[in-house]
Amino acid sequence: MTWFALTLPLIALALGFTLWPYAGVRRRADASRLEPDLAYDPLLERKEVVLRNILDLEFEHRMGKLSDADYAAARGDLEEEAAAILDQLAAGAAPTPAGAKPPAVCGACSAANPAGNRFCGACGASLEKPR
Ligand SMILES: [Zn+2]
Repeated sequence: MTWFALTLPLIALALGFTLWPYAGVRRRADASRLEPDLAYDPLLERKEVVLRNILDLEFEHRMGKLSDADYAAARGDLEEEAAAILDQLAAGAAPTPAGAKPPAVCGACSAANPAGNRFCGACGASLEKPR
């Protein structure tokens, strides 16, 4: 009986340590469920990525891994992209990554298809121009 009384709290303690990180994951998942629009908007996600890249860039520059010229060029590009995303967010436009090509229009049925598609999503015709 004493063996049982001693091991049970130890097992409970070990389980608690093991499962502790997952409790945090569940809490974060609950938070994202409260804001479904924020969690699944690709434009907002892109904004987060760009802002994080700017911070990473700044960090690497301070660490001396980037020359001033490289830092200025890369930071300019990122700031331009961030500004474009913020403009789109402000305008409430459909989320398209900055610098994306315009949608391809099908020659057979004139449906608009995302740039980069090789075949029309509506009729299946090839979207690639004959070379
Ligand atoms: Zn088509």
